[in-house]
Amino acid sequence: MGSGRVRRAVAAGLVALVLGVGLWQGLLAQEETTYTVQPGDTLAGIADRLGVEMEALAAANGIQDVDRIYVGQVLVIPGRELGLATVRARPGESLEALARRVGVEPPQLAVLNGLSETARLFPGQPVRLPAGISPPSAPGFGAVTRVEVPARLVQGHTGRIVLAARRPLSLTVTWNGLPVPVYGGRPPSSSEWIYRGFLPVPALLAPGAYPVTVAYTATGGVSLVRGFSVRVVEGVYEAQRIMLPPDRSTLLDSQILADELARLRAAWSRADTPAQWQGPFRMPMDADYPTTSAYGTRRSYNGGPFTSYHAGQDFAVPAGVTITAPADGIVALAEPLQVRGNAVMLDHGRGVFTGYWHLAEALVQAGQAVKAGDPIGVVGNTGLSTGPHLHWELRIYGIAVDPMQFVDEPLFPPLPGP
Ligand SMILES: [Zn+2]
Repeated sequence: MGSGRVRRAVAAGLVALVLGVGLWQGLLAQEETTYTVQPGDTLAGIADRLGVEMEALAAANGIQDVDRIYVGQVLVIPGRELGLATVRARPGESLEALARRVGVEPPQLAVLNGLSETARLFPGQPVRLPAGISPPSAPGFGAVTRVEVPARLVQGHTGRIVLAARRPLSLTVTWNGLPVPVYGGRPPSSSEWIYRGFLPVPALLAPGAYPVTVAYTATGGVSLVRGFSVRVVEGVYEAQRIMLPPDRSTLLDSQILADELARLRAAWSRADTPAQWQGPFRMPMDADYPTTSAYGTRRSYNGGPFTSYHAGQDFAVPAGVTITAPADGIVALAEPLQVRGNAVMLDHGRGVFTGYWHLAEALVQAGQAVKAGDPIGVVGNTGLSTGPHLHWELRIYGIAVDPMQFVDEPLFPPLPGP
């Protein structure tokens, strides 16, 4: 680290102490969230100078062989993805409105920027964001011209990543270590290729900042990587204690649960089917029925601890009511399961699946194509269920997220291309 950089870091640290808002780490990280490999560098030497573990540096950048790094390779520095970013005010926007837009508490943003909460901002005025908050749109790198990630996501909700590129690229995207299969093409009126993927947040993921990485191999075999950060904030979820009748308690046997989950995981893990949806999802039944257990409810069975959450939304639908497909799809599974009872699962494409459990019967067969509104099953009380109801579940890349989000808002419009 050069002496100029050290001086800047020290000065930044003093500012953080004076502000007293514990932003030392964020200020240190400013402009140093990545490192570009120089001639003569070794991974061990870089790790040493940056003060990080070499193994962590290798892992953060997907490096298998520590002897194989390239001059010009951009490395994400682990633990420093959380640089202080700035966002520019829109015309007429107050500090309070901007804070709400980027998901930060207005008083926190006011203190950080030395402004009052009610301050009017001039259009384009840069406003600093706390560590861990990325601006909604970040500048690109290399042939990637733009990267859009949300500043914050609520537990159990699904965010989106949008990337624009000058030419077709084979992009590798990860979200908190989870591979995100982005897909895209060139829209008719655009000179750029647009790629999109989902950022599903598990309902029990601890609040905090989580990394998104975007990488591709540029001409000459140079690997380019950029890191972004998304803050996960707490969702509002209830807790529910469930007592099961003795004859059904045996179904909680961990081997039965594990086997069934493995069967489902095999079905819902693919993400290569083309996008089948058109707009927002419909509700899977044609009348309003009350919700008896919302998605994300923390659950305890037979007096046990609250270690699991409700992966779907339960509706008090009487037995015998026909349920329908919320969007176009292909039947990925239609069979009796021990815990979930008679089950139907639809593949809506690009890693988006919906599940319907505890049915009296399935009205479709695996492999069949269905249109939005087509009958797919009949409500019942099969499997691990305490009464007739519909359990509706939505999985993205295998992660159970709030299905109601996609009734209220559309998924991405389908794109041309692969
Ligand atoms: Zn349920």
